[in-house]
Amino acid sequence: VAKRLSGKTILITGASSGIGRATALEFVKTAPDVRLILAARRQEQLEELKTEIGALSSAAEVLVTKLDVSDPADIKKFWAELPKEEWKDKLDILVNNAGLVKGLEHVGDIAEEDVNIMYNTNVTGLINMTQAVIPLFKARNAGTIINIGSIAGREPYPGGSIYCSTKAAVRAFTESLRKELVSTRIRVAVIDPGQVETEFSVVRFRGDKAKADAVYAGVEPLTGEDIAEIVVFVAGRRENVVVADTLVFPSHQG
Ligand code: NDP
Repeated sequence: VAKRLSGKTILITGASSGIGRATALEFVKTAPDVRLILAARRQEQLEELKTEIGALSSAAEVLVTKLDVSDPADIKKFWAELPKEEWKDKLDILVNNAGLVKGLEHVGDIAEEDVNIMYNTNVTGLINMTQAVIPLFKARNAGTIINIGSIAGREPYPGGSIYCSTKAAVRAFTESLRKELVSTRIRVAVIDPGQVETEFSVVRFRGDKAKADAVYAGVEPLTGEDIAEIVVFVAGRRENVVVADTLVFPSHQG
């Protein structure tokens, strides 16, 4: 796997915390000379991660970029400003990880603004990032797109109408895309995590830590590192192998 990922250029959205952050570190631990483009809105966290990566490997190259995937104009700016020969033309792997849940109210009570932020981030943002890489990958007839979905996309729950439907959209989008690209060497995969303890766990309850902790009663949740290992596993297969669809649970989650 180290050999297969050696020197690869990898773009991770939502790399400032949780699964995205852990994924960046896992790529470096697996192949110390990877080239990472770390994107998220919180640049300070990305800079800290870059420093941490630097301490792990002097061979890794890291580009930190502020990016709000929910804003199509920001996505256009990101691609326009990404150095072409050094980074854009060399891109091998896109990990569409940025995502969020903003409130778990019932459908009649959820604010329009929260509906929009979830759809614009989890769905439209992911689609826009993917649309930008397809021509790059087609030009080289190579590349890997890994989308982070969720068990929520398969098993919707009350209060999750918006979040769950965004993740169902990620699944459907990924599967359509994979089928559209079967005649190419471009791989497309979705990874659906179950319960993972990250900032997300608290954000979804608008910062209410007691409510967040209650979700994990009787369950030892996954860590971001657990999902990161799966992302790197999927990315690190032989080029003819696509692990198209993966569901990852903590062992106690039913
Ligand atoms: P975190 O909240 O720790 O991480 C979410 C990441 O997404 C952050 O880095 C955040 O960075 C980024 N992000 C959010 N909005 C935007 C935006 N508009 N533009 C760019 N980046 C953005 O949570 P997780 O690591 O848990 O979440 C990662 C993914 O995993 C999400 O897609 C989530 O839906 C999914 N998931 C999580 C599960 C869980 O139980 N934790 C379960 C199943 C799926 P910043 O704020 O700096 O922009």
